[in-house]
Amino acid sequence: MGKLEVMYERCIGCRKCSDVCPYAAVAFYPWKEEEVSDEVAKRSKEKIEILETCTLCNACIAICPTAAIILDAQMQGGTPDRETYKGVWVFAEQRRGVVASVSYELIGEGQKLAAKLGEPLSAVLFGHHMEEQANTLLYYGLDQVYYVDDRRLEHFSDERYAETMTQLVRKFKPNVLLTGATAIGRTFIPRAAVKIRSGLTADCTGLDIEASTRLLLQTRPTFGGNLMAIIRCERYRPQMSTVRHKVMKPAVRREQAGGQVIKVELPDSAKRAKVKLIESVDEVVDAVNITDADIIVSGGRGLGDPKHFDIIERLAKTLGGAVGASRAAVDAGWIPYSHQVGQTGKTVCPKLYIACGISGAIQHLAGMGSSETIVAINKDPGAPIFKVATYGIVGDLHQVVPALIERFSNGR
Ligand code: FAD
Repeated sequence: MGKLEVMYERCIGCRKCSDVCPYAAVAFYPWKEEEVSDEVAKRSKEKIEILETCTLCNACIAICPTAAIILDAQMQGGTPDRETYKGVWVFAEQRRGVVASVSYELIGEGQKLAAKLGEPLSAVLFGHHMEEQANTLLYYGLDQVYYVDDRRLEHFSDERYAETMTQLVRKFKPNVLLTGATAIGRTFIPRAAVKIRSGLTADCTGLDIEASTRLLLQTRPTFGGNLMAIIRCERYRPQMSTVRHKVMKPAVRREQAGGQVIKVELPDSAKRAKVKLIESVDEVVDAVNITDADIIVSGGRGLGDPKHFDIIERLAKTLGGAVGASRAAVDAGWIPYSHQVGQTGKTVCPKLYIACGISGAIQHLAGMGSSETIVAINKDPGAPIFKVATYGIVGDLHQVVPALIERFSNGR
């Protein structure tokens, strides 16, 4: 059985619902301080509660002048006014006032989607004193940047970000909303999706628009990476996805800025938060961050022994690159997990990826398949890695890698 839901931000406290209820199932209580925002309190001094005696007769729904009471099941038909949702939105994540690189990748992808839909492309930025960054975003082919400037948004806050995004979506009604599948994105956007009452496809590796339906096609690995699922969100808006870092190509900065920055006030409902930030401490990472490397030389089980990672390290050093690894090498304890590339490791998109003694399992390809140039060194000509390789060298890595080191050292 469904249940009634009260949209408190719409309730004006007129009590018509309780007057009409034949089962005395609508009660009113004064708001407790921690559960109400100023905006809601201004409209109604009391909180409605639907009691267990409710039989879902719908009398209160029919009489409510602000449509503040809805039947949960009503949403099962989808977002009621979904045709009015227009535009592609990209969440421009920031840390310490710097817009994260994944945001530019989302903008690049968003440009393609917006062009196919013939709808505007916008970024959404939450922060404080970030006017310069908001204006810089306009060099990336955006029509608008919705910028919420408030000291309470300077640092990430799950509750505030989710509530702010929810209010923005309710007000401006975007058709598509993309967020990075980063720690920040993965934390707050599912919460926002629940508040907005839409679906969310996590960890997408591909996005497109279906020509016949104009729906967003969201591709993501499933069943341990053995299948790629294409997911549509047919009835709810916005169509929401998180997208993996380094999978999409970043937008290119243009000579001229276009579009405009629209400043939006922090909604009252996002001003209070139960969680207080006391301190933010950066994790100290000793290992090279392979996601930022332009060149990666990776070793797999084909190395045969952990000591043979030294030739991988030497080749990486010669080329000024970082060392990656397959899961088989990591699981064998040959190299720490921070080097693992793939579905359960890091997703990378370097200019050059050299795979040495790696077979090219689908889970490995999921993490490096969009690299600009892929060189595969493998003694098995039938190894699947050759299907994605730009250049393939069939041979024993113990001969090929030292030869490359020598060649590149001399070429310097
Ligand atoms: P192998 O598949 O054993 O391949 C070794 C290759 O080395 C062979 O092709 C062989 O021909 C070649 N070779 C051997 N000797 C030489 C030589 N002397 N010279 C040249 N070539 C040689 N894997 C990942 O990498 N990353 C992930 O994130 C990941 N996530 C996973 C998640 C799940 C849920 C599952 C089920 C699996 C995951 N895997 C992942 C594991 C993946 O399926 C493969 O098992 C793994 O990638 C294999 O690693 P490999 O290519 O090093 O080893």
